Amino acid sequence: MKKVVKFGGSSLASAEQFKKVGDIIHADAERRYVIPSAPGKRFADDTKVTDMLYACYHLAETGKDFRKMLAEIAARYQEIIDGLSLSTSLKEEFKIIEKNFKEKAGENYAASRGEYLNGIIMAAYLGYEFIDAAEVIRFKENGDFDAELTNEILKKRLAEVDRAVIPGFYGSYEDGRIKTFSRGGSDITGSIAARAAKADVYENWTDVSGFLVADPRIIQNPEGIETITYRELRELSYMGASVLHEDAIFPVRREGIPINIRNTNQPEDEGTWIVESTCQKSRYVITGIAGKKGFCSVNIEKAMMNSEIGFGRKVLQAFEDNGISFEHVPSGIDTMTVFVHQDEFIDKEQKVVSAIHRLADPDSVDIEADLALVAVVGRGMKSTRGTAGRIFSALAHANVNVKMIDQGSSELNIIIGVANDDFETAIKAIYDIFVESQL
Ligand code: ASP
Repeated sequence: MKKVVKFGGSSLASAEQFKKVGDIIHADAERRYVIPSAPGKRFADDTKVTDMLYACYHLAETGKDFRKMLAEIAARYQEIIDGLSLSTSLKEEFKIIEKNFKEKAGENYAASRGEYLNGIIMAAYLGYEFIDAAEVIRFKENGDFDAELTNEILKKRLAEVDRAVIPGFYGSYEDGRIKTFSRGGSDITGSIAARAAKADVYENWTDVSGFLVADPRIIQNPEGIETITYRELRELSYMGASVLHEDAIFPVRREGIPINIRNTNQPEDEGTWIVESTCQKSRYVITGIAGKKGFCSVNIEKAMMNSEIGFGRKVLQAFEDNGISFEHVPSGIDTMTVFVHQDEFIDKEQKVVSAIHRLADPDSVDIEADLALVAVVGRGMKSTRGTAGRIFSALAHANVNVKMIDQGSSELNIIIGVANDDFETAIKAIYDIFVESQL
């Protein structure tokens, strides 16, 4: 068995956290490849090292004195080194970084140093080999991640080592220039390493015990999700549930490697399993509820719309021409509604409306703002009768007016549009009916 383990920034923010991580790794000899993030926040209003690096590099780039800030970053690492009683010195590394900042090596290079340096410390602490991600993670010239080339290089490299630390978040172009993934990208590195190592599981250690059925800012102490499929996860993350970087799914998914989200501060918790497919039912008919505020609906009416070929295309053309992506398009016999993000739409609203008139010649176009979408997701809905009925009666009892309903054809989710002001009430009502009342 082989496990790839990734630790997030809060799991590596201090020497105390490093020690917990060390204990976790030593507790299981199969945890052979370790992907660290950069040190995150030690307390609520602390600053992540990655953010300090971006800010520091900005000073360098604009010709200001950046050395004081770089010294603060160095102090963050020194605190960890001292707390672990290691003899590692990052002095030479910081000299190189200072020189490269002066020479304007780029923001990507700057940000990547967070993981790079933490990887050096982690490797020293564990006594594992250090593999610089720049040697094994490759990007194409157009900036896209090169999955196949990386897999080839990394597979070979990992075959030579029994245990190793590979920093997350970055890789390089062919010429050696550093490139990072988008923020939170260490999750992706972990997934890439799991694929290359043909791991049995990709453990992703963070500061929560996996995914929760609903947002804890809305529901007090929500239940955790034991098992979730990749598709359910995609639906929930799209709607704002964030624990894992979205792109982290692809490398392991194609290999059928499950992801196990775990909590560094509560390692005894099983966490959440993310799998391709499962015969395990979710504990409740639904797997999770998520949602987002800030949508706008554009309602287009035209008599006999149903028989006019090409009407929908013309309407959507008006959005496309103005560079606006749509989220949902529920339609009726003589009506069609387009849901868009309010902040993207607001400045272009009148342009879009006039384009709809010009292209599709509707009877009326009417806009409603301040809407929220709530997604109720669950693989179990397909085989359970009455789910929609329960959702809508719960909402009716909670006095929530439903403005839109959209059930995906996969029967994996039901999306409900409500007023922004009803958002929390709607989520509570749905949580209560499916989860709270079952406890
Ligand atoms: N350190 C990077 C960030 O803060 C990447 C990561 O932590 O995954 O975005």
